[in-house]
Amino acid sequence: MPEPLTPTAPLVSIVVPCFNEQDVIAATFARLEDMAARTPPYRFEFVLVDDGSRDDTLALLRAQARRDDRVRVIGLARNFGHQIAATAGIDAAAGDCVVLLDADLQDPPEVIAAMLEKWREGHDVVYGTRINRHGETAFKRWSAKLFYRVLNRLSDVDIPLDTGDFRLMSRPVVEVLKAMPERHRFLRGMVAWAGFRQIGLPYERAPRHGGTSKYPLRKMLRFAADGILSFSSRPLKIATGLGMIASALGLLGIVYALFMRVFSSEWVEGWTALMIAVLFMGGVQLISVGVMGAYIGRLYEESKRRPLYVVAERIGGPVPQDLPGAGTRLDGGAA
Ligand code: UDP
Ligand code: MG
Repeated sequence: MPEPLTPTAPLVSIVVPCFNEQDVIAATFARLEDMAARTPPYRFEFVLVDDGSRDDTLALLRAQARRDDRVRVIGLARNFGHQIAATAGIDAAAGDCVVLLDADLQDPPEVIAAMLEKWREGHDVVYGTRINRHGETAFKRWSAKLFYRVLNRLSDVDIPLDTGDFRLMSRPVVEVLKAMPERHRFLRGMVAWAGFRQIGLPYERAPRHGGTSKYPLRKMLRFAADGILSFSSRPLKIATGLGMIASALGLLGIVYALFMRVFSSEWVEGWTALMIAVLFMGGVQLISVGVMGAYIGRLYEESKRRPLYVVAERIGGPVPQDLPGAGTRLDGGAA
């Protein structure tokens, strides 16, 4: 441990979004308490967010709050998705630093001690990079690897490879995040965008402790699209490029057809060439319109300026108005 800590020991907020995690809550919390007990001198608070679970998750979280007064529970009014649930927890966290962690023990709580050490050394963001993903299908591992690489190529911000949301963030970084109002949240990119001193910490990603993954292929694809659309306007440029290629090909065709007509005794037979040209152009146009539509749809979503989430229930901790940076954020429901 480095030199003695200032008057009161720093408060570390552990934020855990939970969606239908009744099978793992008890085990996860036991591991977290254990970690906290073995990581003096830090003080801990546990911000457990129920993301509109349909099982007993919320009841189990309430029970944890009754047992341990370091536990705070935020019950969202419905399922808002992982990134928004994490945002709700980060907004509510009061700590000098905030650690974001999955509920399923895939991110081992024991790694937090090493993250805290890096934080004490002066880093503002310590993100976990996965050296190994145990217990995940080959398809998921492969698609995730591909995704991080494509994203990195496309995006204007350097988003670290093979890095999920398991990370420690210092208070200044949390404040930057809180000042970012976008609703299509891709936290790992947003944190990378914030800058400050960031460092990766390799860890082995464990298999899920229980229950099933809440990210089926459909959600994974949407999440990947969110990442790319939020951090790159490259697809729009690609659409323009496609249009240019199509136009160039069309122009070549025109020149060829004119040439044949004027300088030879044959000419291009109509139907096939026409259909190919029409279908090709049609395809390129629809793709381009689709890409544009994706961005316009997001503009529309953002322009509605709805609150990011609605809180139905809060247990423990300061009321939101007392938190640094609160008031600029919308917090829907009754506190
Ligand atoms: N999660 C959530 N809301 C959702 C989906 C997931 O809060 O709509 C939480 C989930 O409870 C877990 C974390 O997000 O704590 C990561 O989900 P999961 O483990 O299912 O994803 P995977 O590890 O399979 O990518
Ligand atoms: Mg998981």
